[in-house]
Amino acid sequence: MSDYTPTERTKIRRKPNRAVYDEAAIHAILDEAFVCQIGFAMEGQPYVIPTNYVRVGKRLFLHGSAASRMFRALAAGTPLCLSVMLIDGLVLAPTATGHSINYRSVMVLGKAQPIEDAQEKFAAMRAFVERVIPGRWPGVRPPSEQELKATMVLAVPLNELSAKVRTGPPIDDEAEYARDVWTGVLPLKLTPGAPLPDPRGKVSIPVPEYVRNYSR
Ligand SMILES: Cc1cc2nc3c(=O)[nH]c(=O)nc-3n(C[C@H](O)[C@H](O)[C@H](O)COP(=O)(O)OP(=O)(O)OC[C@H]3O[C@@H](n4cnc5c(N)ncnc54)[C@H](O)[C@@H]3O)c2cc1C
Repeated sequence: MSDYTPTERTKIRRKPNRAVYDEAAIHAILDEAFVCQIGFAMEGQPYVIPTNYVRVGKRLFLHGSAASRMFRALAAGTPLCLSVMLIDGLVLAPTATGHSINYRSVMVLGKAQPIEDAQEKFAAMRAFVERVIPGRWPGVRPPSEQELKATMVLAVPLNELSAKVRTGPPIDDEAEYARDVWTGVLPLKLTPGAPLPDPRGKVSIPVPEYVRNYSR
């Protein structure tokens, strides 16, 4: 099993016991989440913007309007810091400072590379749709040449990255457990609600299985 080698910038120093560099474990976090936050600076001002992504091999693909300020800046080589996190639970400790979150997070440093090739852009669009909801692509109209031209696709290489994972119960000292207060973990999970049909959609079409059985 291979690892991502940490650099000076991605070596986890604070609580290093929570560091994860294992490639399969990091890919699993990236594949479970599908929204990332992208931090970048323009004229000295940092911005952090949420956006969708899909992992294909050792690259994350981003897509957006060719008119987007963020996409234009990233395509021009502005360095980025991309982060993803999943919240698994609230950790309720005896002490205020002992409270925590069970989480899995990934941070990627680097620069994005614009994807110009129409076929590669098309493949990335397909990967996006299938990542958000597997089974969706065959039924929808694929992007036209014009739509692909108006869409910027960027690839962020998974070269310099780290992951951090907290699991388990509170870790306060034994003496703190003298107080009468409930302690433990409240697990949290993203779950789908009941599907809401599009008022302009075809009523004769039943909710597909990939929507009914969607889970994260
Ligand atoms: C949902 C959530 C809630 C959190 N709440 C708190 C909080 O309330 N208080 C708090 O102090 N910390 C919290 N953390 C942890 C926080 O993300 C940092 O890890 C921590 O603050 C240490 O930061 P640092 O810059 O000192 O880390 P350092 O260890 O000095 O960072 C060095 C390198 O380690 C890597 N790294 C650091 N943190 C992460 C991470 N979370 N994921 C992936 N790579 C990472 C990066 O590559 C970074 O450049 C939380 C994390 C998550 C995901």
